[in-house]
Amino acid sequence: MAMREAWDRLLLREAAGQGIGLSDDQIRALAIFRAELLRWNEKVNLTSVTDEREMAVKHFLDSLYCLKAIPAGCRSIVDVGSGAGFPGIPLAVALPGVRVTLIEATGKKTDFLRRVVDGMGLGAAVLWARAETAGRHPDLRERFDVVVARAVAELRVLAELCLPLCAVGGRWIAMKGPGAGGELASARRAICLVGGGEAELLPYELPFGLGRRNLVVVGKEASTPERYPRRVGVPERKPL
Ligand code: SAM
Repeated sequence: MAMREAWDRLLLREAAGQGIGLSDDQIRALAIFRAELLRWNEKVNLTSVTDEREMAVKHFLDSLYCLKAIPAGCRSIVDVGSGAGFPGIPLAVALPGVRVTLIEATGKKTDFLRRVVDGMGLGAAVLWARAETAGRHPDLRERFDVVVARAVAELRVLAELCLPLCAVGGRWIAMKGPGAGGELASARRAICLVGGGEAELLPYELPFGLGRRNLVVVGKEASTPERYPRRVGVPERKPL
């Protein structure tokens, strides 16, 4: 067996420390994704995090933390505002039986995502779209068991972007920093308006003192009223 690179070993160890098991094939796939990201990052601005350890922890391990809130039996996940593919691509690698869709508004980023997904044979769908438009499309609206989003918008805006895509009975997972509690307090009304129920906060700490994070987990309890999401840009300009 070829010797593993140091980066692979680091990610494998830190993931195992969180109870997240990755096979040799999965760790190899994540290393390919990382190499492509670094290569493309020289031409297209995809991430400012390029240090080996920081990238393993802040992008890859952080994305994999999401697995803790994804229920067994989940068949479909959509990542809203996927950017360079976080958390969507690590989730697609970790959950090969799950249909993963990546929605991203910036064309250069979707070019990268398509290339990576095709190159890795991942079978994820990449959509160049705004979440507001996707949320009104009959093939996408209320079609996903789980909706995830990281670093896209404040919670009360994000609720309107994400919950319309979530099937009733499904779950929305927002990946947030240490201020999640305060954001949640001002997002409760918005969450309720678009069909969300009670929110649960799952705090965690990244290794090497790289930061505190929270998963905000919201069940989809009722169908989203027809008027949401509002037109492109309105959720951000006039949050619910
Ligand atoms: N989720 C990635 C991550 O955590 O690394 C990317 C985060 S980046 C700060 C936010 C991304 O969300 C950008 O790539 C942006 O184009 C995308 N975005 C913002 N608003 C959006 C919307 N309404 N619909 C789709 N994508 C959106």
